[in-house]
Amino acid sequence: MKLSNQELDDLITSIVGEDVLPLVQILRTKNNISEFKLAEMLNITVNQTRNMLYRLNEQNLVNFLRKKDKKKGWYIYYWSFNKKGIENAWTKNCQKQLEDFKARLRREEEGMFYVCPQGCMRLPMETAMEFEFRCQECGTLMKEQENQKTIMNIKKLIQDLEKKIQEPPQEEKKKKQVKKKKEIKKTVKKAIKKFLKKKKTAAKKKL
Ligand SMILES: [Zn+2]
Repeated sequence: MKLSNQELDDLITSIVGEDVLPLVQILRTKNNISEFKLAEMLNITVNQTRNMLYRLNEQNLVNFLRKKDKKKGWYIYYWSFNKKGIENAWTKNCQKQLEDFKARLRREEEGMFYVCPQGCMRLPMETAMEFEFRCQECGTLMKEQENQKTIMNIKKLIQDLEKKIQEPPQEEKKKKQVKKKKEIKKTVKKAIKKFLKKKKTAAKKKL
C-alpha cells in the first residue's frame, strides 16, 4: 500500500495528533534513532519525545530496539517507523469512518430535521419542538427539511469508502511495473511493425 505524504500526515494527525508529525518525518528517513537523539533533533525534552513515541507505539506505528548502555548501565531505546503498522491503521481508520457514516445515515433516515430558512441552524425534530420551531439565533420559524439529498450524499460517501477499503492505494512499484509492461508491449509492437515494413520493401524490391 502506498499513501501520499499528505494522506500519511492526515492519517497520523487523526489517530495520534498533529504534534508528532515532525518526529515521524525524522523516523521515516532513518531507522534506529535513540530518543535522546530525537529530542535533540526536535529541540524538545526527552520526556516530550517519549510521550510522542509512546502514543505512536500505542497505535503500533513505531518499533523499538532496547540496548543496554554499558557505561551508564541503563537501557536506551532506538526507534524506527513501522510501515506495516500504517497499513493496519489506515484500514482501521477507514472502517471507523465507515461506521460513522453508517450511523449518520441511520439518523438521517429515521429522523426528521428542521432548518432555519436564514441558514442559522439545523435541529432534529425533538429539539426543534422544544423551541416551538423557532430558530434560537434569529427567531424565524423553522421549516422541515427535505433530507433526501443528504441521504444520497452519505450513501455515495459510504460507497466510495467501501471501494477504497477494498482497493487500497497501490504501491508505486506495482504501478511502475504495469507501466513497464505497457512500454515493453509498445516497443515490441513497434519492432514488429518495422520488421513487417522491411519485409514489404524487400518483397517490392524483388519484384
Ligand atoms: Zn435563524
